Amino acid sequence: MSEQRDFIRDTVRQDLDAGTVGAVVTRFPPEPNGYLHIGHAKSICLNFGVAEEFGGRCHLRFDDTNPEKEDEEYIDAIRRDIRWLGFDWGEHEYFASDYFERMYGYALDLIRSGKAYVDDLSSDEIKAYRGTLTEPGTPSPYRGRSPEENLDLFRRMRDGEFPDGSRVLRAKIDMASPNLNMRDPTLYRIKHSSHHRTGDAWCLYPMYDFAHCLEDAVESVTHSICTLEFEDHRPLYDWVLDNLPVPARPRQIEFARLNLTYTVMSKRRLLHLVREGAVSGWDDPRMPTIAGLKRRGYTPEAIREFCRRIGVAKRDSTVAVELLEHCLREDLNLRAPRAMAVLDPLKVVIDNYPEGKEEMLEAVNNPEDPGAGTRKVPFSRELYIERADFMEVPARKFHRLAPGREVRLRYGYFITCVETVKNDAGDVAEVRCVYDPHTRGGYSPDGRKVKGTIHWVSAPHSREGTVRLYDRLFSVENPAAEEDWTSVLNPDSLRTLARCRLEPSLGGARTGDIFQFERLGYFCADPDGENASEPVFNRTVGLRDTWAKIAARETDPA
Ligand code: ATP
Ligand code: MG
Repeated sequence: MSEQRDFIRDTVRQDLDAGTVGAVVTRFPPEPNGYLHIGHAKSICLNFGVAEEFGGRCHLRFDDTNPEKEDEEYIDAIRRDIRWLGFDWGEHEYFASDYFERMYGYALDLIRSGKAYVDDLSSDEIKAYRGTLTEPGTPSPYRGRSPEENLDLFRRMRDGEFPDGSRVLRAKIDMASPNLNMRDPTLYRIKHSSHHRTGDAWCLYPMYDFAHCLEDAVESVTHSICTLEFEDHRPLYDWVLDNLPVPARPRQIEFARLNLTYTVMSKRRLLHLVREGAVSGWDDPRMPTIAGLKRRGYTPEAIREFCRRIGVAKRDSTVAVELLEHCLREDLNLRAPRAMAVLDPLKVVIDNYPEGKEEMLEAVNNPEDPGAGTRKVPFSRELYIERADFMEVPARKFHRLAPGREVRLRYGYFITCVETVKNDAGDVAEVRCVYDPHTRGGYSPDGRKVKGTIHWVSAPHSREGTVRLYDRLFSVENPAAEEDWTSVLNPDSLRTLARCRLEPSLGGARTGDIFQFERLGYFCADPDGENASEPVFNRTVGLRDTWAKIAARETDPA
């Protein structure tokens, strides 16, 4: 694989060459307030990838400074998902909450040096005093408090003397700064709530802008890679580190976050979908979460390749979800064993095939991978084919089965339809055919050609299964742009087909096994099938690749 180049890797290389950085240390810093999604995968591939390429290391750091929204369940899920993606942080797992005491000490340092003060203004007042992009802010009346008074008040804040929202600690920087983030930003707020790891030890919690840079410094991170919305926060990141005796001096670099068409990506919105029951959980196969993609049948290889192909840039953009699907097809085409399954079964009886006879036909497991070998598929007098592969009155360009028409059964025989049997309602209930015994394997010795090849299963040998067909969760390209993003959920995003007929080998599928059902797409065995009487398969993705068309449209708008 060719070496990856981008502005972040260039920066890291320069820092190494210049000797300003010894060994590269990056970190992936999720807040444990939800499951990871494909956007996080981009950040994971970047942080772990850069560390690996430059012989450094990447930390997994739980940025757990927000007690109300966080939970242990998320911590476990995050670990599981990163490992599944193929990355390893070794012993370098950290929690921001482990640094609370140290951060508090740094806050005391700032107060002592006159660079932070306790403010009694309410949050609304602080906002009003802050000014706007065109007007400077107004200093708080509490800005002039002495370090002694501030130390006393801040200690009492920690001791729990004051209610939530009554006081904050602010940095004393510049109320006239053109950057609003520098107008005395809040560093600590009072929050009397239990933390999932520190319990009730604290009623004072640090703000992101104060905490994150210190977490990085304490861990000797060299390159703190984050998304573009933090660009305007970088001066504050630097200010905190420049004004404290920190053990290392990390550098923040921003890149554009991943947006995908037909997808919402914020954890807040994904949580809403889970809570409201719009999906079955964080791992619903329609979710853009890592857990959802995995259950859908995505592979870590496909996701990593996708992240490699989108690259990293400094400008926000939206990637077509078709590229993600394309990367998946490329991977599965090479690896997924083929099998035959009929989703909407129509009975076929072969009149001239002896009753009670069965034979085993040889089928190729994967034409892309000769090493995958072959398997035996049972054939008998009664088969199922796809209802859509038969037309009583064939339309133009329909080359499959129809009265009087001969087609090839994949890996089987040529059959010709001789009769259509209908039920009382007038629907086709069964198709009678004759077969040509000289066409075993799907080839005619006289060179006779047929236009259609269809898949099938033997009726008595096949087993029943449930198949879930998924469509996009949202019916518009950019759901987040809607006034009400929940109003554009696709009502047909899940269709469940019971009584599908699967070739016998599929009965042994284990959760997570992925197959290409011939002519239908890729399907992944779902955990729901494990404890049920029959297997359940999720359609991962169809066979038709639409990426080339979209890529052409994107590079050539005409
Ligand atoms: P969300 O917006 O989904 O809630 P977040 O930024 O609040 O995400 P964090 O847990 O803080 O979630 O994210 C961990 C890391 O993943 C951060 O460094 C963040 O920049 C990165 N990240 C989050 N979303 C994306 C995305 N869509 N593309 C790239 N990186 C992302
Ligand atoms: Mg965040």
